[in-house]
Amino acid sequence: MANTRTPLMAGNWKMNLDHHQATHLVQKLAWTLKDAKHDFSAVEVVVVPPFTDLRSVQTLVDADRLEVGYGAQDVSAHSKGAYTGEISATMLSKLGVSYAVVGHSERRQLHAEDDALVGAKVKAALGADIIPIICVGEGLEIRRAGDQVSYTLAQVDGAFDGISAEDAARSVIAYEPVWAIGTGEVATPDDAQEVCGAIRGRLAELYSAEVADAVRVLYGGSVKSSNVASIMAKHDVDGALVGGASLEAEEFAAIARYQSHQVGL
Ligand code: PEP
Repeated sequence: MANTRTPLMAGNWKMNLDHHQATHLVQKLAWTLKDAKHDFSAVEVVVVPPFTDLRSVQTLVDADRLEVGYGAQDVSAHSKGAYTGEISATMLSKLGVSYAVVGHSERRQLHAEDDALVGAKVKAALGADIIPIICVGEGLEIRRAGDQVSYTLAQVDGAFDGISAEDAARSVIAYEPVWAIGTGEVATPDDAQEVCGAIRGRLAELYSAEVADAVRVLYGGSVKSSNVASIMAKHDVDGALVGGASLEAEEFAAIARYQSHQVGL
């Protein structure tokens, strides 16, 4: 049976592009998609710039009524107070932010974020009506040992600990095998399906078939316009979290238009 989940293409810019460059890229992206008579109802397109760009992106999106959404790359687990350098979910919500990436592998690796902290950030985001894009995925050693499914599902369990079925249903999960991020190595479509399908199965166990059916599971890891269609052809892949390739408006627009590509090209 065909699913009713709207595909989501989210571009994680990481620590690239200042607010002037952000405005330029979002304008070009919206113009490119509009120019091609892209049906925004067929795919949701979201940019995820650095915090310092969010106000400029908000102003542009509001003023020009662009159909591009925007999200943050992280969110604090705390609501306010003496947490120098952190940004709360409420602050993001005031900027019209609708998504926050949580538990990206770079934050897990470089900032020692563990499953408990990721879970607290998921709660903070949902509490401010921000949809968390929860990143999970194994490193190379775990993949070589064949333990990718159990490892990733343990991260899913941690992220959803204490989350209600209603909140779970509006969350997004991004399966990102760490060995495929920024390396040019792409998991095969079958690799992506194996883990994305297992994630959906776990949501059915933790909650219900309805919740599992509602949650969008993205794939991330060196997605480009040349490989997106074959990954998106897999039953349990509902979109992509795109890093490097989202920094070029035309390339990211081509990824968003994957439905017009021929699978395998
Ligand atoms: C990412 O940063 O989440 C990512 C998938 O990066 P890239 O597309 O560059 O591999």
